Amino acid sequence: MVEGQIAIEEYRTGNTEHHWDLKKIKSAHKLLATYSYKKGEVNKGYANRTLYVNLSTGVIQEKPVTDEMKKKFTGGRGFGLKLLWDSIKPTTRWNSEENELLITTGPLCGTTQYAGSGKSLCLSVSPSTNIICDCNVGGFFGPYLKFAGFDALELQGKAKEDIVVVIDGEKGTVSIETAPLEEINTHLLSEQLTQIYATENTYKSRQKVSVVSSGLAAQHSYWGCLNFSFYDIRRKVPRIKQAGRGGLGTVLRDKKIKALVVKVERFDGVSNHPADPVSLAKVGTKLHREIRNLDRYQCNMRAVGTGHLVEIMDAYDLLPTENYRFGSFPKASKIYSPKFYELFTKIIPDGCWHGCTMACAKTVDGYTVMTGPYKGEKVTVDGPEYETIGACSNMSIWDPLWILEFNFYCDTYGIDTISAGTAIAFYMEMYEYGILNKERCNGLELCFGNADAALELLHRIAQDDTGEFIKVAAKGARRVKDWLIQNGWGEKQLVEDTGMESKGLEFSEYVTKESLAMQGGYGLTLKGPQHDEAWLIFMDMVNNAIPTFQMKAEALLNQRTMQRRQSLRRFPNMCKTTSYIRMQ
Ligand code: SF4
Repeated sequence: MVEGQIAIEEYRTGNTEHHWDLKKIKSAHKLLATYSYKKGEVNKGYANRTLYVNLSTGVIQEKPVTDEMKKKFTGGRGFGLKLLWDSIKPTTRWNSEENELLITTGPLCGTTQYAGSGKSLCLSVSPSTNIICDCNVGGFFGPYLKFAGFDALELQGKAKEDIVVVIDGEKGTVSIETAPLEEINTHLLSEQLTQIYATENTYKSRQKVSVVSSGLAAQHSYWGCLNFSFYDIRRKVPRIKQAGRGGLGTVLRDKKIKALVVKVERFDGVSNHPADPVSLAKVGTKLHREIRNLDRYQCNMRAVGTGHLVEIMDAYDLLPTENYRFGSFPKASKIYSPKFYELFTKIIPDGCWHGCTMACAKTVDGYTVMTGPYKGEKVTVDGPEYETIGACSNMSIWDPLWILEFNFYCDTYGIDTISAGTAIAFYMEMYEYGILNKERCNGLELCFGNADAALELLHRIAQDDTGEFIKVAAKGARRVKDWLIQNGWGEKQLVEDTGMESKGLEFSEYVTKESLAMQGGYGLTLKGPQHDEAWLIFMDMVNNAIPTFQMKAEALLNQRTMQRRQSLRRFPNMCKTTSYIRMQ
């Protein structure tokens, strides 16, 4: 144990404990389909097969991974796009029977020698845009899927009732089971399923289970996210990372999937059996050293996570405030990273996969919920990350506790904090102009800074409130624009210009009006305006590294190369966060 860390048995989160009758919950499961497979080792980063599950027919089968597939479609995104290409049609919409939800991994997924290698990719036709959306996400599910025997999971069709898909890498079975009694919201469901499927009633055993879930609001909105769990053996809770963008959690719930569960028999630092372990160790050691030596001077993410960006964005007029009207704000210092550092539980390692020196996945333990169905309960809140804080500054919410509240409910309800924050900021600006009002908003006073009203909107979406505004607001900025225009409320051009979305997806949290490179990047992204495909703002506005039009154009052309540089190009599926240190 590293000096200063907390021993496993010493730490308690102080969270509210739940006493469920898990035997009763499990015994209500009905087995709908099962499949046995031959277990095998991962060889040179590949399990050499993918898993296909059809929820309508109960068909479960393996598909081979060919050498051609590895060569042509290297990495999680490539595998996912290939499998989707083979399965959907030009007419497939997000809620079509044939639409698929995929979770895929790359050849280095699950290695521990290179920081940030626990990522998986999630893909589907998005409800927000009706085009393919991909998101990368941390947590244990991707590596465990590979170690259980599959490079990718392909889910097609729709179940008739709430089910769980269980991949048991210990027994070598895949099953579809009804799950009528479990909770739906993530912070409870992931804990229930982790305990139900752990082989033994020990923390070590729970660590070998990972759950993908969403939440109640995901099934009534287009903002559904996927929560990937990683059991934190020191805190003794399943924590979560999100595949947030594009409504993939909405697709999960539309398929009536309550959760996906994977469990492994064992894993260690070499379970991936990489093709070139010596080179991997060499480049991994170099990255570990750079993170350890440079992060404290460059980003300080090891201490405060991605929230370090708030003060930088504020200083350079890039922090979204009042629906992107301003890029900095007098109250912004109230949400700078030191304010969250005070709230984080410290000294406990915070990586979302083993071997991550960056360990940016910060956490507030024992947070007392202020509103809604869990009011008064003490919970663990993962994050908040920069984008969530930026979503709140966009709504003019400047209190760290309300940001934690927004973060907690978005996560447990299965909602993307970026889409929800950006869309609600738009509704707030419409409210300020009188285009929306209390009556049109079903009683909500959605003015800037009203955190209570923003939370109430989330609760009412989760409760499937039938108010006309609540229904349309849950579908995001694009649909609210159409609704306002159809009703003749507000001048059409103003409404179109004020709602920050493109292709139906809400912008992520950067003010781009002074950064042509970032604006262009948002416009050129495949899935819609999301920074993982186009993060030139730092290079453009903070480092001033691309000052001329030509340089900005070249950067846009080469943005993937420039952003991901050698490491991510050579090692697809790596964590973007660990690459920041090389970009700054
Ligand atoms: S850098 Fe952060 S998000 Fe990336 S793997 Fe490490 S802890 Fe997870």
